Amino acid sequence: MPEHDTLRRFIFEKLPVQGRHVHLDASWRAVLERQEYPAPVRALLGEAMVAMALLSATLKFDGAITLQVQGNGPLHLLVVQCTSHLSLRGLARWHGDLPDSGLQKLLGDGRLALTIEPAGKGERYQSIVPLEGETLAACLEGYFQRSEQLPTRLWLTAGDDSTAGLLLQVMPERQRNPDAWQHVTVLADTVTSKELKTLSAEQLLQRLYHEEDVRLFEATPVAFRCQCSRERIEATLRSLGAEEMYSILREQSKVHVDCEFCGRGYDFDAVDVQTLFVPDAQSAHSGARH
Ligand SMILES: [Zn+2]
Repeated sequence: MPEHDTLRRFIFEKLPVQGRHVHLDASWRAVLERQEYPAPVRALLGEAMVAMALLSATLKFDGAITLQVQGNGPLHLLVVQCTSHLSLRGLARWHGDLPDSGLQKLLGDGRLALTIEPAGKGERYQSIVPLEGETLAACLEGYFQRSEQLPTRLWLTAGDDSTAGLLLQVMPERQRNPDAWQHVTVLADTVTSKELKTLSAEQLLQRLYHEEDVRLFEATPVAFRCQCSRERIEATLRSLGAEEMYSILREQSKVHVDCEFCGRGYDFDAVDVQTLFVPDAQSAHSGARH
């Protein structure tokens, strides 16, 4: 059975290693339908989407994980976000001539930021992933190594119709076994990009680990879904300030915002804009008391 837009977890019964396999199809095409990306940008965006789906599945709480690239290279912006419920969205912006390959040439003097954000009121946590490596997988692996988190390896690939990846990670609750880790990662290093894209999780594990006792769990669906809302857009407009908003209103009859991720449009007329900058009743009340 081929797998589409699914994430599957697996564990080695006798080794202290766990893994995840993800395959993105319609969710990846939904991103490509919104924007035509040149090949090197498309490849990195696809890999980033797979990586975030794999890492979001390691979140221990309700929330989201975001990878953001900011740089002065030809690819100056890339944002991919995946929630713990596996809603995925992403976009990239570039300019000028693009190099054929090489992460560092593409990003220039850029940086990769990984943000973990619990839903609700929890604390947001951001770390910088140094651009030390020629692939996104190498940079993320370096980050895991340096941040003294669990040894983790990633295999990522992006195609025109689908994109896929594999993650292996040491299981913290079991006794460490460096030989076992070496054994499973050396085997995974033999996987080809074509195998990643075309094999189901079951076939892939059979191909790599037919001599091991591997338990494969049920598939969880992954979907392209945007988290944008009128409330979030309002917060952004508020942060731009009243002066900026009123100046837009003087030129146009309304303020129109398109969500960059999903293309959904939001309109704010003069009354809406005014409402944005009126202190709400609650804060006015508490202000009066002090
Ligand atoms: Zn949206």
